[in-house]
Amino acid sequence: MDLSDVIVYAGGEFKRYADAKVGLLTHGLQYGTGCFEGIRGYWVPEDEDLYLVLLRDHYERLATSAKILTMSLPKSADELIDITVELCVRNRYEQNVYVRPFIYKAAEDVGVRLHNVQDAFAIVPIPFTAYLDTSKGLHVCVSSWRRADDTMAPPRAKITGLYVNSALAKSEAIANGYDEAILLSHDGHVAEGSAENIFLVRRGVLYTPDPSQNVLEGCTRRAVMDIARDFGIEVVERSIDRGELYSADEVFFTGTAAGLGYVASIDRRVVGDGTMGPVARRLGEFYERIVTGREPRYASWITPAYAKAKLPA
Ligand code: PMP
Repeated sequence: MDLSDVIVYAGGEFKRYADAKVGLLTHGLQYGTGCFEGIRGYWVPEDEDLYLVLLRDHYERLATSAKILTMSLPKSADELIDITVELCVRNRYEQNVYVRPFIYKAAEDVGVRLHNVQDAFAIVPIPFTAYLDTSKGLHVCVSSWRRADDTMAPPRAKITGLYVNSALAKSEAIANGYDEAILLSHDGHVAEGSAENIFLVRRGVLYTPDPSQNVLEGCTRRAVMDIARDFGIEVVERSIDRGELYSADEVFFTGTAAGLGYVASIDRRVVGDGTMGPVARRLGEFYERIVTGREPRYASWITPAYAKAKLPA
């Protein structure tokens, strides 16, 4: 994808992607000292609008991640929401998009540290290309890599350097013929996918690892739990053993990029009957309706970019 002419926000201004440069010795690049978000936008032709999903949640999580790395966002969540909307409109996107805001340590010198290094902030919106094909069930494995532990670097912050952990697990899974990996925490409990949270269903109850299991507190995770509770489905956050994965009726992933993707097999053991289970289907279809502006009760979860851009400031 040629991104040269995409309008991005960097250094406090709008510019072409090709004109927004970072230097080779930038700390964020050398040491992974940055944090980021991934935000989805769904283009709905009938509405002629682009619905940006859970913008506030993402910017709040970015602020928290930044704080953990002793950085602070240059603007408030409201201002960043406005800039994100403006970026999508300036790019005239009439397709699904993926928006990548990030903040990173921007000094160009040698010496790993967090202190005495200035930050830089940018937002890059790009056309979305499918991340995981969730139309079919995913064949997944338990990774030989463990999820990074909070005692080493906090996984609840979306830190760029921590994605080495995800990349190792993902590529190992692909090399071994699977679609995705499930990482266990260092003490052997189920944590999450390489870039998704995980849920399982047993006897109608929805289970997901609680936030102390070294998971990223996903925006989609929270959304799906809210929907489930609204449907009257019991939701339990607790530590989950590997063996429970094999005995679940349903297993599915959630994530901004992936949406809700169901797992057909784990370590070559079929989950349920290998098709999408009723709970995953119900939650997934409803989530889809919300993010495409079809559920007025959940309108606060989405920001219609074109409608909002037309409002007087
Ligand atoms: N875990 C990890 C490690 C991730 O990278 C992501 C994607 N941001 C998720 C979970 C899912 O989070 P969200 O629903 O906010 O995209």
